[in-house]
Amino acid sequence: MRKYTVALIKGDGIGPEIIDEAVKVLDAVSVKEGFEIAYKEALLGGAAIDVTGEPIPPETIEIAKSCDAVLFGAIGGPKWDNLPRDKRPETGLLKLRKALEVFANLRPVQVYDELLNASTLKPEVLKGTDLLVVRELIGGIYFGQPRGYEGDRAYNTMVYTKDEVRRIAKVAFEIARKRNRKVTSVDKANVLEVSQLWRDTVEEVAKEYEDVRLEHIYIDNAAMQLIRDPRQFDVILTGNIFGDILSDEASMLSGSIGLLPSASIGEKYGLYEPIHGSAPDIAEQGIANPIATIASAAMMLRFQFSEERAADRIEQAIKQVLKEGYRTKDLSSFDAKEVVTTSEMGSLIAQYASQI
Ligand code: NAD
Repeated sequence: MRKYTVALIKGDGIGPEIIDEAVKVLDAVSVKEGFEIAYKEALLGGAAIDVTGEPIPPETIEIAKSCDAVLFGAIGGPKWDNLPRDKRPETGLLKLRKALEVFANLRPVQVYDELLNASTLKPEVLKGTDLLVVRELIGGIYFGQPRGYEGDRAYNTMVYTKDEVRRIAKVAFEIARKRNRKVTSVDKANVLEVSQLWRDTVEEVAKEYEDVRLEHIYIDNAAMQLIRDPRQFDVILTGNIFGDILSDEASMLSGSIGLLPSASIGEKYGLYEPIHGSAPDIAEQGIANPIATIASAAMMLRFQFSEERAADRIEQAIKQVLKEGYRTKDLSSFDAKEVVTTSEMGSLIAQYASQI
């Protein structure tokens, strides 16, 4: 039997509730597809601070590295907001991403037909949108040196090497091959040297993928096109800061932040998590939407374990429950037949995923 180990990091706020539902669904599909997942729990964020005084204890990194993948809920909350920056929950997450060297952040954005009215954009613009943002995660201006704040002057440095661009571009082209074979590379090559290097390198990589169409677009135009006509995109490839902004913009196409999964992958490790935070305002009320986390678990099955069929089962089951009108509270005003709790939503998806 195929066996996998998954580090489970529940975190804070709604983290434990949504991770429990993802595990429920994973257990259901693993039985059906004949593989086994063993879980190892690890602490991160506020939950880790309360127990160890540190946002990321060394055991967490050890456990994460010893497993085949990491499934993560969310961290943070008002209880820990006044701690110094290096002791805050968010610092723990950044350190985990760096320790695992997960350089590629993948954010799929799919607009479900049943939820076309949940977005602030017009349904006719959104219908059929299915895109993936591939964002470079551990380079660019967020990490470049020198950086500083000196008197009335402050500066950061945007730097990329060809190797960094090459490896993220390859991820985008490989994925595009499994989708609609189109990569849109986003930069600001009309102004920035670093973007010119980005563009030149993406062109070089594209030569190895002649079956994939490549187009280049400036970030300002990309931000506009994304809401003007999102269906033109398949895979959007971009650097750290542009990807940060574009992926949040893209997330609004779907209607609720509670729907969107993400994967952060590197040469060796993979970290799978919903794009939202710990939502302390709704924690422990049984109303959080677990779909983003369950869909992140499906990405883990697909990208980390190549369990395509199990991933398909989960994705189909999510569509099915939405089609049948089951909604958690965040989506209760959009064609809801029945409003269900976090746990009921998890059970429904597990049940449908087993039946497909
Ligand atoms: P948030 O994403 O936690 O919440 C924003 C809004 O969306 C809230 O109204 C919340 O109730 C709602 N929401 C989020 N997830 C939902 C879900 N699954 N179902 C239904 N509604 C959902 O962002 P925030 O309020 O800015 O931050 C709260 C805490 O989370 C902060 O401490 C922040 O630092 C942290 N945070 C963590 C991560 C992470 O762990 N990756 C990411 C972003 C924010």
